[in-house]
Amino acid sequence: MPELPEVEVSRMGITPHVVGQTVTRIIVRNPKLRWPVPEAICQIEGQVIRRVSRRAKYLLLETDIGYAIVHLGMSGSLRILPSGIPAEKHDHVDLVLASGEVLRYNDPRRFGAWLWQQPPEEMHQVLGKLGPEPLDAAFSADYLFEKAQGKRTAIKQFIMDNQVVVGVGNIYANESLFSAGIHPKRAAGQISRARLAALVDQIKAVLAFAIEQGGTTLKDFKNAEGKPGYFAQELLVYGKAGQPCPRCDKPLSEMKIGQRSTVYCTDCQT
Ligand code: ZN
Repeated sequence: MPELPEVEVSRMGITPHVVGQTVTRIIVRNPKLRWPVPEAICQIEGQVIRRVSRRAKYLLLETDIGYAIVHLGMSGSLRILPSGIPAEKHDHVDLVLASGEVLRYNDPRRFGAWLWQQPPEEMHQVLGKLGPEPLDAAFSADYLFEKAQGKRTAIKQFIMDNQVVVGVGNIYANESLFSAGIHPKRAAGQISRARLAALVDQIKAVLAFAIEQGGTTLKDFKNAEGKPGYFAQELLVYGKAGQPCPRCDKPLSEMKIGQRSTVYCTDCQT
């Protein structure tokens, strides 16, 4: 599943190809995504894409009259192709650009989305109620400490809640809790400000590192083959239950929290 770093790398990858381009045509081959692709999205035809921004895991293709909202769901990906390449089975949406290139959306499981918001000043409902971006200054130790007061929720579920902070997926929750030395089941409200400050730093660090690693795959956005935007990462604990802890060598333990695999060290995380 594409996580925030993959979405950010997708944003960086498509930006030079789409910003400043006029959309000559949008082709929706299958509107049955997570939500039906609205017919109003055709209004993007003839518009210039001014900016590609990201909010949580949504990409916003901004024009003067509104913006398309793209979500990669469980299996979606975006590619930049020369025009004239025949669409394959799961290529559901094409944005044909005046440059002759095509922004093509592929999504085998169809949990992704293409939506349209107009006018541009208004916020689409899917973007409401979202917490701060993890890499923004608004996501700080003070913010997290205040938000956690009185909360009995396990810290892992707490930081994966989009209303607390966006984009901390399961991989990054595992990794940042290990690096901060915090037991994933500890009640959010029982963790000191200093330890939450360490956690905030680690969340920012693991996400920034993943984006940096993914940035090296940018060339793949012009490749007709493969899976652009998904990349192998160097991880400390995620997916490594039973292997030695990178800090103390004790085998890593695993449990489920909110049905999600949680890998941790019983000695290093308290
Ligand atoms: Zn350990």
